[in-house]
Amino acid sequence: MAKTVLFSNYTIVTPHQEGPVTISENAFCVVSGKKITYVGTDKDEAERNASKNGEGDYYTYEGKNKILCPTFANAHGHTPMSIFRNIADDFSLQNWLFGEIIPREDRMISDDFYYGNLLTLAEMIEGGTGCVANMYDGAFEICKGSLESGFRIQQTVMGKKCQDGVWSVDKAGVEEFLDYLKTNDSEGLLKPSLLVHSIYLYPEDFYSPLNELALEYKIPVSVHISETLTELENCEKSYGCSPVKKLDSFGMLTDTTVAAHCVHLSEEDRAILSQRKVWVAHNPSSNMKLASGMANMVAMQKDGIRLCLGTDGAASNNNQDMFMEMRLASFMAKGTTLDPTVLKAEDVFTMATRNGYQACGFYDAGVIEEGMLADLQIIDYDCPQMWPLGNPLSALIYSCGPKCVESTMINGQFVMFKHELKTIDLEKVKAETAKTMQRLK
Ligand SMILES: [Zn+2]
Repeated sequence: MAKTVLFSNYTIVTPHQEGPVTISENAFCVVSGKKITYVGTDKDEAERNASKNGEGDYYTYEGKNKILCPTFANAHGHTPMSIFRNIADDFSLQNWLFGEIIPREDRMISDDFYYGNLLTLAEMIEGGTGCVANMYDGAFEICKGSLESGFRIQQTVMGKKCQDGVWSVDKAGVEEFLDYLKTNDSEGLLKPSLLVHSIYLYPEDFYSPLNELALEYKIPVSVHISETLTELENCEKSYGCSPVKKLDSFGMLTDTTVAAHCVHLSEEDRAILSQRKVWVAHNPSSNMKLASGMANMVAMQKDGIRLCLGTDGAASNNNQDMFMEMRLASFMAKGTTLDPTVLKAEDVFTMATRNGYQACGFYDAGVIEEGMLADLQIIDYDCPQMWPLGNPLSALIYSCGPKCVESTMINGQFVMFKHELKTIDLEKVKAETAKTMQRLK
């Protein structure tokens, strides 16, 4: 296919870098190379732009009954955990994590990270997701698969070692990972972050060295915060304050930090998260499934906290469907406040797109504007589930699902075109991950 694509006559739904979500009917969008070079309703101008950028050669893709919108950026995932799908359910978080998941993770081999990640990326691409903030070990296997798939990812590096129960920072490991990114990521698909699992996994005196590591190498911190009442109570017992306050005391909460869950927050916690401009990744499905509780999104929104949306891993969700997360986030906020006007379609759509990309460090993606990276999805609304369309934004949040995603483009490349995955051999990935599940059962 030509390197320049003219999306012709689409309904374009997008948030903006500044301002509200807009809906443009009969609109055009030109993608050339990695970037969007034209957006608007002037057909002649769009064709001129495509012709100029494509040096006379471009592919026109007609948009009858189709919506063009940004792909989703899933702001909290553990991609290899698809290999644990549906094998440890209906447990409390503590029993699930320490009794079921960690013992299996201890037996993982490098292929499990590689194929588990690819399986999740395939699911994400089919569901219109083009980017993920991924918190997991196996950075090299995960990044290799992500580059092969053309998938955008903010990947954690461990940055630490534990020997005989003693933790130490691993500078060499961080440097090796940063070198890998520099050498292999010529397309600009990858960004690093530092894995700081939570306030409860490491001894108190290890958090400052971890924070110094993040500062030294200028890498964002990725952390779970106040996911359960148990975590909150234990933190109060050990440190006399909340996880937010404790992590803040180490300087770990900044405008690049992605804090997952944040279910149990005090007013003071929210003020800190707002002041530090932390990205809070809301995980409605996982929080409900593990009975962690309901995050108070309306209070967080009122306090000006920067909000995004994630699925969490497939072992606690058990899918990677961002449409479901948008819908649940909105419904949970409405249901718990008895106010149907809160967390509107526009709010959750912006959380799932622009905000998610920014949380992952990609400030030049997640909106359909000229000069932005071409991470786009095509929704085919010529199906009973979405017909008649009505308000296109409402349709995306309240009617749409992964099966309505017809094509997905990341960095200007179709990674799925007309429902066909272009960069992942799904049958091979399915065969490998089925074997893994048998081994780790
Ligand atoms: Zn998580």
